[in-house]
Amino acid sequence: MADAVVAPVPPTTPLTIRMHAADNVAIVANDGGLAVGTLLAGGLQLQDRVPQGHKVALVAIAKDAAVIRYNVPIGYAVKDIPAGAWVHERLLHMPAARSLDDLPMATEHAAPLEPLTGYSFMGYRNADGSVGTRNILAITTTVQCVAGVVDFAVNRIKAELLPRYPQVDDVVGLEHAYGCGVAIDAPDAIIPIRTLRNISRNPNFGGEVMVVSLGCEKLQPERLLPPGSIALRGEEKLDVVCLQAEQHVGFMSMVDSIMASAEKHLQRLNARQRERVPASELLVGVQCGGSDAFSGVTANPAVGFCTDLLVRAGATVLFSETTEVRDAVDQMTARATTPEVAQAMAREMAWYDAYLQRGSADRSANTTPGNKAGGLSNIVEKAMGSIIKSGTVPISAVLSPGEKASTKGLIYAATPASDFICGTLQLAAGMNMHVFTTGRGTPYGLAECPVIKVATRTELATRWHDLMDVNAGRIADGEASIADVGWELFHLLLAVASGEKKTWAEHWKLHNALVLFNPAPIT
Ligand code: CA
Repeated sequence: MADAVVAPVPPTTPLTIRMHAADNVAIVANDGGLAVGTLLAGGLQLQDRVPQGHKVALVAIAKDAAVIRYNVPIGYAVKDIPAGAWVHERLLHMPAARSLDDLPMATEHAAPLEPLTGYSFMGYRNADGSVGTRNILAITTTVQCVAGVVDFAVNRIKAELLPRYPQVDDVVGLEHAYGCGVAIDAPDAIIPIRTLRNISRNPNFGGEVMVVSLGCEKLQPERLLPPGSIALRGEEKLDVVCLQAEQHVGFMSMVDSIMASAEKHLQRLNARQRERVPASELLVGVQCGGSDAFSGVTANPAVGFCTDLLVRAGATVLFSETTEVRDAVDQMTARATTPEVAQAMAREMAWYDAYLQRGSADRSANTTPGNKAGGLSNIVEKAMGSIIKSGTVPISAVLSPGEKASTKGLIYAATPASDFICGTLQLAAGMNMHVFTTGRGTPYGLAECPVIKVATRTELATRWHDLMDVNAGRIADGEASIADVGWELFHLLLAVASGEKKTWAEHWKLHNALVLFNPAPIT
C-alpha cells in the first residue's frame, strides 16, 4: 500500500469540565484520560495521570479543606492536595449525612412555568382516563410457584393466538418472587402487595386484568386485587385461573385454561386504536444506572432539561432512587410546592435511613466499584449528579414505594436506587415511558414499557451503537448543548410513545425481571 495516505493524528486538546464557578475540581473529559505533565487551557500542569471522568484539583487544597463540585462539598481532603493532582476517592473523607431536622420546607418560590403547548402523541386511551403507549396483555401472578406454567402458556399464546390479534403488541407474565413464604401480615408487606396490584393497573395493559394463582399461597387473588381495586371489563368477578382447582387434570388443562382466559382479553385489547392525545398524557419515569462522572455532566442534565419541558407540557415525571437523593434532601424539600409535600419527602428519607440502619448499612453502600472506576468518589458526588434528572421545576407530590400517581407534574416516587426495583416501582406508579441514563453501560430494558437509554459518553454510544438510543456524550465533546439533547429526548419520547419508533431494548426484546421491593421479613 505504497500510495496509502496516513492522516496526521490531530494533537489531543485537553478537555476538562467544571460544573460550577465555585468548584475547586474539574473532571477530565478526554477519552483515555490525560497524561502527567499535560498543560490545561488555563496553564495548570497535571501532576498525575488523570483517567477520563476523574477529578483534577484546580487549586491547592489543604488537608481538611472541602473539595467542591456542583458548588457542594463532596468530601474533605485527607491530606494536602497540590494543584494539578488527581483527586481520587482515597483522598476524600465523605461528609456526614444532612440531618433531617430544620430542613427548608417549600421555601423556593419558583416563577410560574411557561406552558409548552402544541405537542401530542398517538396513544391508547383507557376507560379510567389514563393513556397507554403500548398495547400489552399482562398476566398477573399471585405467587412464584406458577411462574413456570405461566411462562409455558405465554410462549404458546405468542405462537398460536397473538398472530390473530395484530393490534396487540405483546403478552407478558408478571412474574415475581413474592406470594408465599413471606410475612404477609407484617406492616411493610403492604409495599410488595400494592406494587403488584398497581402494576396490574399500568396504562400499557389497557385495563385488562387476568390472574393466575396456585391456590394455597398466602397472597390470595382477593387480597391482591380486592373488589373495587380494578374496574372489571365485561365480567362479574376477577378473572382468575387457579392451578389447584379440581377442574385441572394434568398440566395441559392448566395451559388450556390460561389460553382460553387470555383470548377473551386479547379480543378486547385488539379492538383498541391509537388516538391523538396531548403530551400531558405522558407519565415518564427517569432513572440512572451504571453511573460514571459524566452522568451528572451530560446525560442527567439533558434529562433534567427534558423533565422541565415535560412538566411545562402538563405531563408527569417520576424521579426516584432515595439513596441518591438523600444527600440533596435540603434542595428537594426547598423545591416542594407545599410544606406538606416537603414533609412527605423528609418522611420518605427518614423511613429509608431506618431501613438501612436495620441492615447495618448506610448510604455509603450505594456506590459500586464501577461508579468509583468511572470517577465518582462517593454517594455525595453521585447524588449531586443524579438529582439533576429532576430539572428545575417544583416538586408537586411524593409517593411511597408502590403507590400510584394521581396528580401531574414532577413527583418524587420513593424507591431504592437498584435499577430493576426502581423500574418495577415506577411501573406501579403508572409509568408509560421510561428514560434511563448510563455511563458504564447496561443493556437494561423492561417488557412492560419502552425504555429509552441515554449514554453519557460518545465512546459508549459508539461501542454500544445498537443498545443506546441517545448520545448525550456530544455535550462533553462540545458538539451539542444540554438543551439540544433535552429537546431530542423530548421528541424521541413522543415518537416512541406513538409507536412510530422502537427503542433498541424493544428491537432486541431485552428485558429485566420485575423485582418487588420487599422490606418485610421472609418466613
Ligand atoms: Ca438506578
